[in-house]
This record gives sequence, C-alpha cells and structure tokens, in this order.
Amino acid sequence: MIHDVIVVGSGPGGATAAATLASHGKSVLMVDRQSFPRDKVCGDGMPIEIMKLLRQMNVDIHRHKLHYHRIEALSISSPSGRELKTIEKQRDVFSMTSPRYSFDNTLHNHALQSGAKFEQMNIVKPLMSADREKVTGIIERRDNQLIEHEARVVIAAGGVASPIARALRGENKEQDVTAISIRAYACLKKPIEACVHFYFEPNLLPGYAWLFPVGEDRANVGVYLHQNHGQNMRALLDEFCAELDVEMEIDPATVKTWSLPLYVSDESRAMPGVLMVGDEGRFVNALTGGGIYSAMLTGHEAAIQAIKLLEGHPSDYDRAWREQLDSSLKRGRFVQKNIVSHPTLFNGLFTLTDLPLLRRRFLKAIAGDHY
Ligand SMILES: Cc1cc2nc3c(=O)[nH]c(=O)nc-3n(C[C@H](O)[C@H](O)[C@H](O)COP(=O)(O)OP(=O)(O)OC[C@H]3O[C@@H](n4cnc5c(N)ncnc54)[C@H](O)[C@@H]3O)c2cc1C
Repeated sequence: MIHDVIVVGSGPGGATAAATLASHGKSVLMVDRQSFPRDKVCGDGMPIEIMKLLRQMNVDIHRHKLHYHRIEALSISSPSGRELKTIEKQRDVFSMTSPRYSFDNTLHNHALQSGAKFEQMNIVKPLMSADREKVTGIIERRDNQLIEHEARVVIAAGGVASPIARALRGENKEQDVTAISIRAYACLKKPIEACVHFYFEPNLLPGYAWLFPVGEDRANVGVYLHQNHGQNMRALLDEFCAELDVEMEIDPATVKTWSLPLYVSDESRAMPGVLMVGDEGRFVNALTGGGIYSAMLTGHEAAIQAIKLLEGHPSDYDRAWREQLDSSLKRGRFVQKNIVSHPTLFNGLFTLTDLPLLRRRFLKAIAGDHY
C-alpha cells in the first residue's frame, strides 16, 4: 500500500500535520516509536498563539479533557536581580502551561479523530528512490528486520532524534546549534500566583532558569543552557531552586535533560519527497528555547504544501515557513547573541524599562513568543 503521506513523529508538529491532512481527506499514517500518551521533557509553557492555533484547528480542549493551568502574568528577572513583570490582558484566548503528557495526547487524539491512522514504529531512515534523488517512504526496524513503507510525501516530525533529517543532511557540526536543558516537577508548600518566571542568572547567560506553575501547588522548574561547558545540570537546577523564595520539593523521578535544536535560517527544510517540521526542522527559538508553537505552525504549513504536491501542483514550503517564522526566530537569535550574552548591556536596558514604550519593546524582544 502506498500512503498519501506518512508523518514520522506524533508530537505537536506531527500531530498537527496529520490532523490537517486527514481533515482534507488525505490518507495519512502517523508513526511514532512511543505509544500515547507519553511524556516529553519540556517547560510546558504555551504562549497565547498556541491556543489560537488550537482554535483554528477546532481542537475542543474541554472534550479532550486537556490538563492546563491558565497563566495570568509573566516575569523576567535580569542578571542583577531586577524584575520586569507584565499582566496578561483578560481575553478568551490565553497563555497556559500544560504538561506535555496531556497536551501532546490531546493533539494526537485530535489527529486520530480527524481520520489519521497511527502505528507504533521505530523509524531508522528514509526510503530512497533507485537514483537516490527522492524520498519515497520510510524504513522501520522491527525484530531486527528492516521494513519499508511507501508514501507519496513524508513529513519528518521526529523531534531532536531526527531519524529522517539526520540521514539526509548529516549532523550539523556547528557548535551553537544545539542547546541543552534540564527540567523537573516540584511540589510547592504554598500556592503561588499563575505567573511564568524567567530568571536570567549571571552563571547561565545567555540561558536562563524558569519557574512555570502547572497548578496552584505544582511547578515545572528548569535550566536552559545555550552551551554546556562541562557544567553539572542537576547541580545548576538544585542551586537555582535553593535560591528561590518558594518552598518546594522536587520529584526526583521527573528530573530529565534533553537537547534543543536551535533555529538556523539559511537551511532548506524541503527535499524531494520530504518536508521537515518542528524540532526535526530546527525551529526552536534560540533565546527562549520555545518550539511548540513553531512545531505546530510548520506542521500545519507542511500539510498544506503536501496537499499541493499530492494534487500535482508545485509547493514552496521554504517560502511559506519563512514568511511566518523567520523574522521572529532571527530576532530571538539576535537578542540572545547581542544583548542577553552581555550582562552589562542587558542590565542597562532593564533600567530603561520604566518607560512604557521601551518596556513593551523589551518584553517583545526578550519574551518573544511567550509574550
Ligand atoms: C527542557 C525543555 C524545555 C522546553 N520548554 C518549552 C516550553 O516551555 N515551551 C515551548 O514552546 N517549547 C519548549 N521546549 C521545546 C519543545 O519541547 C519542542 O520544540 C517541541 O516538543 C517540538 O515538537 P515536535 O513535534 O517537533 O517534536 P517532539 O515533541 O519531540 O515529538 C517528536 C516525536 O517523534 C518521535 N520519534 C523520535 N524518533 C523517532 C523514530 N526514530 N521513529 C519514530 N518516532 C520517533 C518521538 O517519540 C516524539 O513523540 C522545551 C524543550 C526542552 C528540551
């Protein structure tokens, strides 16, 4: 059987692509090496744009019983300890935190209900045409055997493991394209306000530590490092939590590290027969480490472009994602390299944020997709 589209990976990028394709009547097989629901190491921070996308996709978060915590404020602390806080306007769309166990399962089920099929498979590489010019499907490993599955288009959404992209473009040897992060869930001794906190601690720059409430008495805490120069991630996390003015107890079973493939602008995410989305396409914002929104957006866009290909029209996936994401992701990289990496400049700009216009611009630049 030849599928219209095989989507590799059923995280936010893959599930969004599969739901979009299925709702347009295309035969789509979603594959993932994990069964759902599954956890994904993450800060669980969901900027307001994510709820807008969920609405556009007609995802009924109440019917799916999505576990979420409404966020009402955002706070950024400078290396010198100065705080900049903003309250979110009251609207019917809002920022939230949502544990990925629940969020990704909601999108996965939405794709199934839209008509996508799912199979648990461990994909090892793309299936290539005889002349090796085009991707014509995927190859899974099962019981030490390699099994081929054909598709007219493959959407590669396998996250940082990148089973398809890695085989096609090789590993990127540049030093600053992969960041590292550690996260844990913590029980809080007292309820805290629904505010996401970013702490730009001097020893973490241009990274930061975070405290994101996921309920009144539970938080997601973590450290995001742009590059690890031999630091012990667990020790950094413990040090950060000990200095916080919030009494908490970390659940040791939830302490995990994971890598983030940072955005590079000058790389194509389309090759004959394949479109790359989300982390597999390197769409993580270098400044914030946020990648769920861009995974969903590129998942949706890749699906639209795949439909064009299936209907015999040319597609221009690279132009499509660039129009929507390039400027904000480039701005993230610029601010991270040219402002946040320089504590004196960063602290200096913080002191100017008493002026409302500068305050807004600054928040937009620093919090970017979280604001
Ligand atoms: C510690 C940490 C904190 C973060 N915090 C935030 C945050 O607060 N907000 C935010 O927006 N972003 C955050 N991110 C980034 C965000 O998690 C990713 O950008 C997002 O998950 C990308 O979605 P995706 O669908 O591309 O990939 P994923 O969510 O990684 O999904 C990929 C899927 O592919 C499957 N897969 C992998 N290999 C194979 C294979 N060989 N065969 C079959 N299936 C395979 C996996 O099982 C997985 O289900 C964080 C990342 C980290 C590491």
